[in-house]
Amino acid sequence: MTTMQVAVLRGIQELAIEERPVPEPGPGEVLVRITAVGVCGSDVHYYQHGRIGDFVVERPMVLGHESGGVIAGVGAGVDASRVGQRVSIEPGVPDLTCPECLAGRYNLCPDMRFFATPPYDGSLAEFVTVHAAFAHPVPDTISDDAAALLEPLSVGVWAARKARISAGSRVLITGAGPIGLVATQCARAFGATEIVVSDLNPHRLKLARDLGATATIDVGATPLADAGFEPDVLLECSGHPGATGDGIRALARAGRAVLVGMGDDLPLPLTHIQSREIELTGTFRYANTWPAAIALAESGRVDVDTLVTGHFALADSEAALLAPERDPLAVKSVIDPRR
Ligand SMILES: [Zn+2]
Repeated sequence: MTTMQVAVLRGIQELAIEERPVPEPGPGEVLVRITAVGVCGSDVHYYQHGRIGDFVVERPMVLGHESGGVIAGVGAGVDASRVGQRVSIEPGVPDLTCPECLAGRYNLCPDMRFFATPPYDGSLAEFVTVHAAFAHPVPDTISDDAAALLEPLSVGVWAARKARISAGSRVLITGAGPIGLVATQCARAFGATEIVVSDLNPHRLKLARDLGATATIDVGATPLADAGFEPDVLLECSGHPGATGDGIRALARAGRAVLVGMGDDLPLPLTHIQSREIELTGTFRYANTWPAAIALAESGRVDVDTLVTGHFALADSEAALLAPERDPLAVKSVIDPRR
């Protein structure tokens, strides 16, 4: 096979299937035949708006960054016995040499090349090449979908680490989308004993309870302030300014707020943060999370397969992108480029 199909964002709300040459793995790289790609909110945002903050799509870009597949070829210097290995792709490859990389914070590398973040193409394609160390082998006991969804799971693992969730933690999670739902499961796996999830969508709140939330708050009916829960940790997964402010105001003294959802700049309750010595941090993707994500999925401590509400062929990528907006019961679309 010398050519392949890819799903390219050509302009705002303009997604096309194109034929492109199959890439050649360079030195230190592997060629991966993609078996599953999860649709992320960021893919949908680029599709709808052509940008996320300072990242602007200025020329056609292949979408997709939550992906798994099978190694189909190796570049120079890579063990050829890896051909045929099932892998989960960590979609951001840093330069590995800058001060941030050397400090172990490679997610903050200023030279990061991240799939489907302009100007780099993503993995909504039959084949991609990636640094061999960022194609993580996965056990045969986890599904192709799960291999792809180790990427959003990594976001949850990173959030739980940044929040220092441990045995007995009381955690509030605002937003029960795919990230809120993996964060819920990570909070449980990290030892939290009270996990309260808020959202407006009753179906997603039910899913949150199924996946480990000890209670849920329908903020359409009960404002957070009236819920009477004083958590140690806030994992803000909605990106909604109201939820962020309300979540921070709910925190106990010396509580920790971790902003995971992507939102616009917003006013913060600084008096509350100051007088209660609240710690506040953002998260930007993740670093060193794949081993934990693989172990959580393999052991069954976390279930990412349940999040998948629709399977799509590459030709139906647009429908896959729009499903979560159009259907309140949809959570996560997965595209199989082999179809
Ligand atoms: Zn770097």
